[in-house]
Amino acid sequence: MYKFKRMSVFLFDELIFGPVRSRRLGVSLGINLLPTHKKICSFNCIYCECGWTHDRNLETSTLPEKDSFNSQLKEKLIDLKGTDLEPDSITFAGNGEPTLHPHFAEIVSETIELRNLYAPKAKVTVLTNGSMLHKQKVFDALQKVDYSMLKLDGGTEETIQAINMPLKAFKLDEYVKQLIRFNGKLIIQSLFLRGDHNGKHIDNTTKTEVEAWLNLIKKINPGKVMVYAIERDTPASGLERVGKEELEKIAVRVRKEGIETEVFA
Ligand code: SF4
Repeated sequence: MYKFKRMSVFLFDELIFGPVRSRRLGVSLGINLLPTHKKICSFNCIYCECGWTHDRNLETSTLPEKDSFNSQLKEKLIDLKGTDLEPDSITFAGNGEPTLHPHFAEIVSETIELRNLYAPKAKVTVLTNGSMLHKQKVFDALQKVDYSMLKLDGGTEETIQAINMPLKAFKLDEYVKQLIRFNGKLIIQSLFLRGDHNGKHIDNTTKTEVEAWLNLIKKINPGKVMVYAIERDTPASGLERVGKEELEKIAVRVRKEGIETEVFA
């Protein structure tokens, strides 16, 4: 069992960052659509590697200009071409939730064009909490990329509230309906943990919790599920990293439903 201590905040200080060797994506070149000096997100996950969400003013936050990305990405892809670090994935991640950027859809289209020209073997991946799926442009952009990786850390609203702390009203049944619209062309990413926060014990690994989560997974019927554990220090202190064996047991249950599942621990 590993207990994680309160973290020092980890932020990406560039719009195009890496490439880094990612446990889930291989050599991953990151695109950070959020500011380089602070995190902006619609969630406030207790395990977020970027620390707590302090800026709740999503509408008024200043985000990097759309035109900042294209030339930087092109230059980076040309530099990496033919090297050991030619990316397996061009990944929208960074200091918060990428789909909050008002030009997310356009930047995705431009990224796909640049990928086709300069890194045709790379997949375009988006890591998202899915909070903007109600915007048709965001939904459509996520249909265009190779891998849309959407968060689902629990099977009940209570658990999601406790772990992800969405800043705006969150309805789990509405979120699941949006995920079903992907017709299986999505990856579900689920982090399992236990620990105490705000005087409350949180544990999404119990029999009841895993059953509720699995029921939703069956409804969503994703192309793949990734189950994983905390990797670095977390903003909430005292969270416990769930071991690989336990994650494997959860994965076995998903695989029994005919859904490909990978474990990262
Ligand atoms: S959704 Fe992602 S970026 Fe936002 S708080 Fe959660 S882990 Fe951090």
